[in-house]
Order: sequence, then structure tokens, then C-alpha cells
Amino acid sequence: MKAHDAIYIDGAWRPAAGQDVIEVVDPAEERVIATVPAGTALDIDTAVRAARAALPGWAATPPAERAARLTALRDSLEARKDEIAETVTAELGSPLPFSQAVHAAVPVAVAGSYAELAASYSFEEKVGNSTVLLEPVGVVGAITPWNYPLHQVVAKVAPALAAGCTIVLKPAEDTPLVAQLFAEAVHDAGVPAGVFNLVTGLGPVAGQALAEHPGVDLVSFTGSTAVGRQIGAVAGAAVKKVALELGGKSANVILPGADLARAVAVGVANVMSNSGQTCSAWTRMLVHREQYDEAVSLAATAAAKYTDRIGPLVSDKQRRRVRAYIEQGITEGARLVAGGPDYPRERGYWVSPTVFADVTPEMTIAQEEIFGPVLTILRYEDEEDALRIANGTVYGLAGAVWAADEAEAVAFARRMETGQVDINGGRFNPRAPFGGYKQSGIGRELGAHGLAEYLQTKSLQF
Ligand code: NAD
Repeated sequence: MKAHDAIYIDGAWRPAAGQDVIEVVDPAEERVIATVPAGTALDIDTAVRAARAALPGWAATPPAERAARLTALRDSLEARKDEIAETVTAELGSPLPFSQAVHAAVPVAVAGSYAELAASYSFEEKVGNSTVLLEPVGVVGAITPWNYPLHQVVAKVAPALAAGCTIVLKPAEDTPLVAQLFAEAVHDAGVPAGVFNLVTGLGPVAGQALAEHPGVDLVSFTGSTAVGRQIGAVAGAAVKKVALELGGKSANVILPGADLARAVAVGVANVMSNSGQTCSAWTRMLVHREQYDEAVSLAATAAAKYTDRIGPLVSDKQRRRVRAYIEQGITEGARLVAGGPDYPRERGYWVSPTVFADVTPEMTIAQEEIFGPVLTILRYEDEEDALRIANGTVYGLAGAVWAADEAEAVAFARRMETGQVDINGGRFNPRAPFGGYKQSGIGRELGAHGLAEYLQTKSLQF
């Protein structure tokens, strides 16, 4: 696609207030492929004013009409799916088939789910002598990361539109091009001017200005725990609503009776997918001591097969960060059984698919989110030990349990402190609530639970 040398405010592309630009780099080629405006606080202010001006009209638009715009948005994303996939591949580096199957296709499904929800959701409830109105929260400031760059945008914008909110989006600086494509799709869907606005820019400049803006009623953020904590503090001080989707260190618990080969194969695939840049990745594999050696050998063999399948990491900064974690794992005494810290290619921000065995729960690589293709395998003694290890991090975003018997897996999953658990390889469900326990975040995205985040309630008594 051709980058817009502009930001999208009040239904039109217009120049940013300043001259600064952000360079977009193709991580496979280490080459600048485009520049986009680096919006400032002034641009954010203009965008928030446009969103506020559009709010009364959009909030009063009947849900059926909001649903019709969302259906049109779904269709315009679908019509652009090839361009979306190519754009994500160019700026994120993911292999084209993955960009097509995930980065382009999942947002279509999510937009479609909110078109249906907007039409069917009860925005009014009866409670005794009261009528409870579910009203839009107001102007939403959405700040999104680069790892699933369109999905994370749609997971905020679609429910906000369904709820009757207006939006200012500040996408990640590494992946602004697909956000521009999204703005085109919103425009073509006939969403009224000012309802959706896009300001590209740097996190500490445009992102911070958006989080702090008094005209924003809800800040919805996905990204690192460090920035999420700051945004939560700013929102708390202003008594403003906040939704945070942060990091994870999810456990893949393989109980003794499980199909070990399948559990390991799916587990490795889960970690290597998107080059490990997935907040819900099962980066800790927990295996019973009697099956441990077999699991390690299966995982090492499986990981090696991903060497030519995975894409580069998004940036040199991420590559250096991941390498530092791999080096730390070695220093702390974990046993490298696949991959390692050496960069496998001369050009492009690749890291080898890496597997560590003999990882103990207190090691840094078993506690901190690495955000790269790095799997840790931990040994447990019995179920209680497995549960202690699974719940033994500050995070709680996702997880998996494998067992011979589904009821046994469910019983274990009930005791896990985490927001999502896949049972024996259960499939991703774009309508199931997604979000974290503990420091993985506040609030839920996707489906009806995701819509509820953008609503506030008013009770009328009769
Ligand atoms: P980040 O938190 O710095 O960036 C996420 C978004 O926040 C971007 O749009 C960024 O511009 C914006 N931002 C940055 N600083 C800001 C500030 N002070 N105020 C407001 N907005 C700000 O994340 P990153 O640097 O892109 O990635 C670093 C780490 O974050 C990763 O290694 C990973 O551990 C984690 N991460 C998690 C997720 C997730 O889905 N949970 C996604 C991306 C990154």
C-alpha cells in the first residue's frame, strides 16, 4: 500500500501539526519502506475534539444502524484482505500465509461478530421496578501494539462502535500502515465523520497525550506491563475508566495421561507462532518428571522444524531483548536444547526457535515475558506441584491443559489463575472473553464481554 502522509480526523485525511515522521521498517530486509506522520499532543487534541463532537449523534444512532456500519466495515476489511496481509508482512515480518490466515482473517471475524452483537444485544434491562439503560462510555482512547496489529485495533474499535462510543486510535509506531488501511476501511464503511479518528505517533508523545487527555472517557491499552502501569496510574488519578491487556507467561500443563506427542507438538507450534510475539503464548511447558526427557526431545525436534518457517522479530530492539533473555537463561543454568543466542541470518531480525530444558520456576526466563520464539520446559512432581508452578508468576493471561480425560483437565483448569485455558487443544474462539487475571490486565476483550467494557449503566425507577 501507499502510506498516507496524513492523519485521519473527522472523516478526512489531513496533515499533522508538526513535520516529524516515523520510519516504517521491513524487519526481514532491514529497509525503510514508508514514513508516516509522528503526531503530537496538538493532533491528539484535534482528534479528541472531533470524537467528542461526533459522540452525541453516534450514541443516539439506533443499534441496528450501528450494526449496519459494522457489517459494512467487516465487508470492507474482507475486500482488502490481500492488501492487509501484504501490509502486515511488510511491516511486522510475519510470513504471508500467517498474515492471511490470522492477521487479515481474524479481524474480519471479530468485526462480523460485533455487527451481529450490535443488532442483537439488549441495551436495556428490567430489574424489578427499574429499567437499566446500557449507554456508551463516551470517547475512547485506544492505544495498540504491533504484534497482532489489526486484530488489536479491531478488538477495541468494533465493540466501541457497537456500543455507540467514538474513538481516537494511536497505533504502534512499528505497524502504522495497517492502521491506515483500517481507517480507509472505516471510511468506506460509511461510519460518520469524527466517530473514528487515527493519529499515528510515538508512544511517549501521542500515546501519552491521548491517555492524559481530559476529553477521553476510557483508555483502552494493549501492550507492555510497564506502560500499562503508567496508563493505569494516569487514568486512576483522573478517575477515568481504563482497560489494560498486558503481558503473559502462560503455562501449558501436560498431565501424565495426556497424548504427549500431540501436546508437545501443539505447544511448540503455539510458542513459535508469530515468532513468539504473542501475549497469550504458552511459553512455559510443564511436564511430569517421568515424561520429562521424552517431552524435551520431542520439543527440540519440533522446534528445529520452525527454523525456516518463522518470520523475523518486529525490530532490532526486540531482537536484542530476546537475545539478552536467551543469554540470561544460559547464565542461570538452564539447558539449551534448540536454538540459542546467535542470530541465524545476516540480514533481518531473526532469532532461532529456542528451547530450554531444566528450567526451574524462579529463573528469569520462567518468570518474565520474553516475546520471542523461546520455550521453557519445567519439570513437576505431582498435580499440586504443577498447579503451584502454573500459578507462580505475576501474570495470568492464558494457558492450556492436556489430560487423558476432559473432566480431569477441566478440574485442573478451574484452579488456574488465568483468563483463558484451552482444553486438549481447544480452538481459538473470537467470541470468548479474552483478558487477564493478576498483572495480565484489567477488563476483557471480544464477544459480549468485550462490548460490556464500552458501556455504562443508568437505572430508571418506576
Ligand atoms: P509498549 O507498551 O511500549 O507499546 C504499546 C503501545 O503503547 C504502542 O502504541 C506505544 O506507542 C504505546 N506507548 C508506549 N509508551 C507509551 C506511553 N508512555 N504512554 C502511552 N502510550 C505509550 O510495548 P512495546 O515496546 O511495543 O513492546 C515491549 C514489550 O511489551 C514486548 O516485548 C512485550 O513483552 C510486551 N507487549 C505485550 C503485548 C500484549 O499483547 N500484551 C503486545 C505488545 C508488546
